[in-house]
Amino acid sequence: MFRKSVFLFAFFAAVISLSLNASNIKIALYNESKITSLMVTSEMGRYTLITSDSLHPLLLDNTTLLQITVVNDSIQVNTFEKKIGTYTFLKIISDSSLLKLKAIQPALKEKICRGIFDINILKGSLNVINTLSVEDYVAGVVEAEVGSKLPAEFYKAQCIITRTYALSHLRRHEAENFNLCDKVHCQAYNGVGKRNPFIVIAAQQTKDVVLVDSSSELITAAFFSNCGGTTANSEDVWNKKLSYLRSVNDTFCLKQRNAVWKKEIDKTDWLNYMKKNCKATISDSIICNAVQANRAVYFIDKSSGIKNTSIRLDLNLKSAFFTVSDMGDKVLLRGRGYGHGVGLCQEGAIQMARKGYSYTNILHFYFQQVNIINLSQKEFFKE
Ligand SMILES: [Zn+2]
Ligand SMILES: [Zn+2]
Repeated sequence: MFRKSVFLFAFFAAVISLSLNASNIKIALYNESKITSLMVTSEMGRYTLITSDSLHPLLLDNTTLLQITVVNDSIQVNTFEKKIGTYTFLKIISDSSLLKLKAIQPALKEKICRGIFDINILKGSLNVINTLSVEDYVAGVVEAEVGSKLPAEFYKAQCIITRTYALSHLRRHEAENFNLCDKVHCQAYNGVGKRNPFIVIAAQQTKDVVLVDSSSELITAAFFSNCGGTTANSEDVWNKKLSYLRSVNDTFCLKQRNAVWKKEIDKTDWLNYMKKNCKATISDSIICNAVQANRAVYFIDKSSGIKNTSIRLDLNLKSAFFTVSDMGDKVLLRGRGYGHGVGLCQEGAIQMARKGYSYTNILHFYFQQVNIINLSQKEFFKE
């Protein structure tokens, strides 16, 4: 009996210390997907199940598949062979192994995850909170966000951006008892993924490294696909001027995949849209031959009252940086870049890395007057 309690004490002490560690983060998985049935198994190695009625942890291996289902406001846990029981909450600990999570109701794509999983019922569905290390989270987000086979220095820059974003939004879901959701609202997180070794290494090598502004505040680390040659000032896109989000000329991305785009629009539709939104009287010929040599806030000029960013959103354009040509029945929009244009241009950053620039060179090129700091060496973050 004594040995058992010592074991349990050590076991829970380890769990508690893991959940209180500042380098861990709590992510709500399947947030708002309202899942009522979930299958869990291990890819390889053992995992532990702790149930609400008992302190006895159940040690499971990759031959055991748990089926977790909401039944009458309780959580029913079964394996293929038998019913384990019905509980109010569960804790699953993956130890060092990777777990496979597959939502059955509704059916969703499998996620590979690791860490601690606290599961209870919230408004009739399973509430799954995954506690994992910030570095595992960062690597998972980056793997989902960018392609494979990219240069290491680019992966490091992207990891620092992802970490800076995550750590600056840790209180976003404070009222719900987790840090970030797994949706685009916070940052899309689909699990630790296949564990691309180059991304995992980049996350480890930049552990605790973030971007701060001149007041030592974590920055809004914005990024997008391609700027088309010039990035945008933050206030020209989001109405908020941030000292580190200034327009820069970028020649690195000019020959990359998303550097240019074209779109034909029916001339009548184009003129109707413009006339509906334009505050000044502008001739059809000017509206159909508008040139944007450099990034401009307004279409033609300020008197039009139409922001290029609004046209981009309304007409679903790849960027707000485009020129118009009259083609008779149609107008041809010739655009540059892909995305909002504020912050780091990913295709430019990838080219910089290929040309031998370091992640610090890349980040200082796209973010002005920022400092790249290691949080483990900063007292202010530990409070
Ligand atoms: Zn969120
Ligand atoms: Zn660019």
